Amino acid sequence: MNKEHIHHERLYDFDIYGFQHDLITWFEREQRELPWRKDQDPYKVWVSEIMLQQTKVDTVIPYFNSFIEQFPNIQSLAEAEEDKVLKAWEGLGYYSRARNLQSAVREVHESYGGIVPNTPSEISTLTGVGPYTTGAILSIAYGVPEPAVDGNVMRVLSRILLIEDDIAKPRTRKVFEEVIRDLISKDNPSFFNQGLMELGAMVCTPTSPSCLLCPVREYCRAFAEGVQRELPVKTKKKSTRQVALVAGILVDDEGRFLIHRRPSEGLLANLWEFPNFVKVDELGTAKQQLQQLMKTEYGMDISVGDYINDIKHVFSHLVWNVNVYTGKWHGDVPKESGLTAVTMEEMMKYAFPVSHQNMWKEYLKIKK
Ligand code: SF4
Repeated sequence: MNKEHIHHERLYDFDIYGFQHDLITWFEREQRELPWRKDQDPYKVWVSEIMLQQTKVDTVIPYFNSFIEQFPNIQSLAEAEEDKVLKAWEGLGYYSRARNLQSAVREVHESYGGIVPNTPSEISTLTGVGPYTTGAILSIAYGVPEPAVDGNVMRVLSRILLIEDDIAKPRTRKVFEEVIRDLISKDNPSFFNQGLMELGAMVCTPTSPSCLLCPVREYCRAFAEGVQRELPVKTKKKSTRQVALVAGILVDDEGRFLIHRRPSEGLLANLWEFPNFVKVDELGTAKQQLQQLMKTEYGMDISVGDYINDIKHVFSHLVWNVNVYTGKWHGDVPKESGLTAVTMEEMMKYAFPVSHQNMWKEYLKIKK
């Protein structure tokens, strides 16, 4: 090993080449067959990495397959209607990712002739493409030795190298990126990065790492000292804010339901939803509140029916607790209300957040 190449003191005395070799050969042998691993198409790598952020592999597979079927390449996604893209993303959550992906793909289509750029400086300027996705696309699709550091990789490396920096702090990612620049295999950066990710997913898991099955145990300092469960160091996030809401699935005598489009900015932007309001307890019971708020906010007369259930929607800093009711609406829909009346069949064309999809499912159950 040429020690001159090792800038990082944490790597002093660490067998870099042995580690690379053992990690990569394990990955070659054990990697799961996943649809985005079939080829190195940078577009597919990109889509898969965006979908995989905060979502489990098993959940992503069917979404990835149908998304690629509908939008097989840069051009088809660039030219697709946003509503279609959101519909294909429905259920994965984090819709801003889908929107960012599409606008970045349009940039690639227009400014790079439809070819995903292969340098960190170009790729990282695309909308929604952060350092992790940049590293993943460059290393997996183009074989460029760039670090791809997410929470998973930080956990694994914090254990292997006994790094005790707080991973809740944004600047800590830089520490890990620096380490990986020294550690990464220049011959096979793709399998090196994927090996770290796979190790984090399959072996070096958050609460109970399977150290006895670990292919790089002999390099792992946390294991040697018996502190693997204490790593990574991560300070607690602030507690989440709870918001109480009341919502209505409201239908008229012709079977048309009222839906409403969310604003084009902010939480769940541009998605559709059933009318819902932050509760104002002074207005009385939840039922009375719904009736009153439909009148004052939208100018609509309704009669509230049965209670359906409570739905929870958890965001990173916010939890919605929604009391859901059935109801009937009467009269005309005022134009300025922003409400739209749709039949059950038409509803399928609109993209709803998961919480509202769940409301609808519950509604259908009680209507059976
Ligand atoms: Fe993780 Fe244990 Fe392997 Fe260390 S030995 S990398 S803690 S699974």
